[in-house]
Amino acid sequence: MADNRTDKRLTAKKDLVADWNHLMRVFLRPEDDASRQTLIKYMEQMLFGLHEFLKKHVGITEAKSLKELSEHFMITEISEDPEKKLADVITCLIKEIAPHAVNVASPYFVGHMTSAIPFFMVHLKTIVAALNQNVVKVETSKVVSVIEKQVIAKIHSMIYKRGRPFYEKHVQDTDTTLGVFTEGGTTANLTALWVARNARFAPKSGFSGIESEGVPSAFAAYNVDRCVILASRLAHYSLRKAAGILGLGCNSVIPIETDADYRIDIDALKETIKQIHAENSRTCILAIVGIAGATETGTVDPLAQIAEICNTHNIHFHVDAAWGGPTLFSKEYRHLLDGIQHSDSVTIDGHKQFYMPMTCGMLYVRDPKILDVIAYHSNYVNRRGSVDLGIRSLSGSREANSLILDCALKIMGAKGYALLINHGIETARAFAEEIEKREDFQLVTPPVLNILTYRFFPARTRERIAHADMDEKERINSALNVINRDLQRLQREAGNSFVSRTTLRQNAFAPCEIVVLRTVIMNPMTDIGILREILDEQEQIVKNHLSENLPE
Ligand SMILES: *Cc1c(COP(=O)(O)O)cnc(C)c1O
Repeated sequence: MADNRTDKRLTAKKDLVADWNHLMRVFLRPEDDASRQTLIKYMEQMLFGLHEFLKKHVGITEAKSLKELSEHFMITEISEDPEKKLADVITCLIKEIAPHAVNVASPYFVGHMTSAIPFFMVHLKTIVAALNQNVVKVETSKVVSVIEKQVIAKIHSMIYKRGRPFYEKHVQDTDTTLGVFTEGGTTANLTALWVARNARFAPKSGFSGIESEGVPSAFAAYNVDRCVILASRLAHYSLRKAAGILGLGCNSVIPIETDADYRIDIDALKETIKQIHAENSRTCILAIVGIAGATETGTVDPLAQIAEICNTHNIHFHVDAAWGGPTLFSKEYRHLLDGIQHSDSVTIDGHKQFYMPMTCGMLYVRDPKILDVIAYHSNYVNRRGSVDLGIRSLSGSREANSLILDCALKIMGAKGYALLINHGIETARAFAEEIEKREDFQLVTPPVLNILTYRFFPARTRERIAHADMDEKERINSALNVINRDLQRLQREAGNSFVSRTTLRQNAFAPCEIVVLRTVIMNPMTDIGILREILDEQEQIVKNHLSENLPE
């Protein structure tokens, strides 16, 4: 890697001067043949240079430590004159930076929700950058805004199935909104709770609404002391962030116990609601969140049952389907999300199982008028009655991600996405079978969708633990936790493959937390052969490096 510590003022080439000529060269469109050729050359270098990198390097290696790398990035001054030409910048990115980034596209990289994307996404992203539309207002996006409304209606109909007349009425209606693009799942969840909050504390006589008057006035106007949100303890931490930002306090997200299958325990949920009502009638249950694809385990809450509870108590029902939403494409597996159609709002991430490039989130709402409670207008943009998509949206300026999604749906077709979903789920099931066949591994959470967790747990230890008392069980589990933690780290550092790890507790009565290895299978190139290799490697790592730590 080039040493960035050298003082660039001494080494800057003479021809790199920031003058008007240089500026014009940077801005002018490539109109003559020579400059066109140059730009095409750069584009080729970018597309295929990175392609080479993505093929060659696998996983995250520790060949160079992060600390070592960071020493190359210490200069904090901006150079007066340009340091590099575009060609050199691209070469540097390909040759010096990319090899130290993470090859999330490797089929051996099965630890996170970030993975390979179809190559056409790079082209679509480039077009979006080239057009540079700003969908906050129609004056900077025109047709792209109506395309966005159309693609939102398409996904909405996949979730809510409201029938053709409904979509004909709303698809281009400027007074209604079926959903909104956000930066990611975090901001989609925030938007959902923002909407729920504003709808619950709406304007009424003598009170102009929580959005205008703030939380204390709203609580006073509605005779409320506290506002809580109920979700399984496997809920994503973005809900806590949202409650914090919305002035409700992040501790207002109350974790509900899960059942043996890591789904929200419906009895515990009902009991909590009963307790809250009994303890203080001035506590408001703002929303219940059902998870469709928990980040750690991929498990899906019983959405239909939660919907019923929300309906009975008139509580906002939000489904966090950031991960699992696109399962709806699959005829074979969409039933897993049954009940989602009764929700008030749904989060789906584009950069997860829509295989879009970073970053894209979306929020869908059943009631096309509910997003009015977060509407903002201003004189220069977001005029009343316009198709300005910034009116009911947390973001201001934003890129036309809708264009990428719309094109991707056309290129893939619902069936194409279904194939990806089915492959993930079926490969995860095959992997689960393989884990159960091996006597030194324990499947901890079987895959409902395409995520599973397991741990190294040698057969003889399993026999021991079966007859152990509570203390002994804890001791053995702690030893296993250390081994699994080390195993995950050693495998990551070896750089051939990557699984992630997390800590789980089966239920409130489980003796202790256990460290588990977590795999997320979304890359169509990942097959059972590769997953077997990953297990083989793990067995080898334990044998070669960790066998002394095995619990007696
Ligand atoms: C990924 C995820 C989120 C957060 O989404 P970001 O796009 O990372 O902000 C929220 N909920 C669930 C269930 C997720 O899997």
